[in-house]
Amino acid sequence: MRFKNLQCRECQRKYPAEAIYVCEYCFGPLEVIYDYENIDISRESISKGPLSLWRYKPLLPVHTDSPVTIGEGLTPLVRAGNLEKELGIKELYIKNDSVNPTFSFKDRVVTVAVSRARELGFDTVACASTGNLACSVAAYGKKAGLKTVVFIPADLEKGKVIGAGIYQPHLVGVKGDYDQVNRLCGELAGTFNWGFVNVNLRPYYAEGSKTLGFEVAEQLGFRAPRQVVVPMASGSLLTKIYKGLKEFEELGIIDEAGTRFFGAQAAGADPIAEAVRKDEDIIRPVKVKTIAKSLAIGNPADGYYAWNVIKKSGGYAASVSDNEIVEGIKLLASTEGIFTETAGGVTVGSLKKLIEAGKIDPDLSVVIYITGNGLKTQEAVEKSVSKIEEIDPSLESFKETCPWAG
Ligand SMILES: *Cc1c(COP(=O)(O)O)cnc(C)c1O
Ligand SMILES: [Zn+2]
Repeated sequence: MRFKNLQCRECQRKYPAEAIYVCEYCFGPLEVIYDYENIDISRESISKGPLSLWRYKPLLPVHTDSPVTIGEGLTPLVRAGNLEKELGIKELYIKNDSVNPTFSFKDRVVTVAVSRARELGFDTVACASTGNLACSVAAYGKKAGLKTVVFIPADLEKGKVIGAGIYQPHLVGVKGDYDQVNRLCGELAGTFNWGFVNVNLRPYYAEGSKTLGFEVAEQLGFRAPRQVVVPMASGSLLTKIYKGLKEFEELGIIDEAGTRFFGAQAAGADPIAEAVRKDEDIIRPVKVKTIAKSLAIGNPADGYYAWNVIKKSGGYAASVSDNEIVEGIKLLASTEGIFTETAGGVTVGSLKKLIEAGKIDPDLSVVIYITGNGLKTQEAVEKSVSKIEEIDPSLESFKETCPWAG
């Protein structure tokens, strides 16, 4: 068995690998632990694996040989030459995770959580979502043939409501913000015997994010990036990219990682970035207000752990205003041809700020994680797109609107 236990991240008590997520003694979060001695994985075995994130299966908490998959992962890592020039840095890559099956990185965590839910015998999967998770759980729940219940804040972007609703889940809009949706789902998880992917299945779900560390290392020719910029909501993604690189290092798949972690948040939802700037290890919950709804978590479950990775790796964190988010989206689209959602605007805006502040070393490689697709948050940039030039269907009419043509 590659894994058989969960372990408390605080007091190290062990638990069986069931649908549980908090330590009964100290209320610390539980995490999957592996028997690394029994794990058979190498550069060769990975390279021969399936063309999805299931090529890293020995390091994922699922036993079945038929996971619930729609072809998630193995997204492009693109060298960003134009943005390098624009920002004055030497080696920049974009991990474009906006092209997953439901157009966000959440497919990575959900393929793992829903596969595990089925393996544990649940007939219903559910989630508390800031938007992208709703789309992903709806799609994978249906693909798995399970009953699917999705909870979202009632005021979400249209692209996310449609992007989840089209799969025909039971879709519930809660009148409140994400932190209230999440609290309600915690209560429901204690009432119904359902697999809530980010509540009672959270230890398994979170492991899916490690694949964003594995994959980038593989795509760089089995080496770790020197610096990464990662958007943070609950802080789980950043923490797990770190865990993934560490595992690769310990298994001898890459040399010592030494990656510096930079966190990106929206100014109206930045409790982790604030703690980094103040150099305090207490994450103070905030009331959220930002156009980056997918990152709008005021009380982040993994905030302290993300803070810790940023600190001990020698990184830093930035937060950006709504205006800077829109500018970030425009900059990425107009230099690299990648249309990202508001969370990606947060990441690009934060990259710019961190370079300007001298926190990111312009001479060392940087990977930024673009985690969601721009077509889902169109209202954020409606006023920023090229104006349509209406013409008559004639050469003269076209020449009038485009004087430089010819
Ligand atoms: C969920 C999400 C994240 C990060 O979430 P964490 O809770 O920090 O793991 C980043 N980007 C997008 C687009 C997301 O939907
Ligand atoms: Zn404990």
